[in-house]
Amino acid sequence: MSREPKTMKDLPPTPLSRPKTGSAGETGFWRTFRPVFDMPRCTGCLLCWIYCPEGCIERDEEDMPKVDFKYCKGCGVCVNECPVDAIKMEREV
Ligand code: SF4
Ligand code: SF4
Repeated sequence: MSREPKTMKDLPPTPLSRPKTGSAGETGFWRTFRPVFDMPRCTGCLLCWIYCPEGCIERDEEDMPKVDFKYCKGCGVCVNECPVDAIKMEREV
């Protein structure tokens, strides 16, 4: 019986091909909504880092997620994958 992964370490070892950040240019201007992280709530599981289809979530010095907004398209995949609801989408102003 499978269970939902709680951190990236719960995922099976799999060859990972990440998109090259910026291969389509600076795509951040496509965004109409942006992910806003509630860092006190974030557990550092890095599922958002694994699943971001643009490869634009980086890991900071403390191994916590940090978005490169030059390339984030605002797709919301990170919001769907976060197991503790630490990310919300907010409309760009
Ligand atoms: S909104 Fe999409 S592109 Fe932006 S950080 Fe989240 S998953 Fe990546
Ligand atoms: S924002 Fe959510 S998915 Fe990303 S590392 Fe934090 S807890 Fe995990």
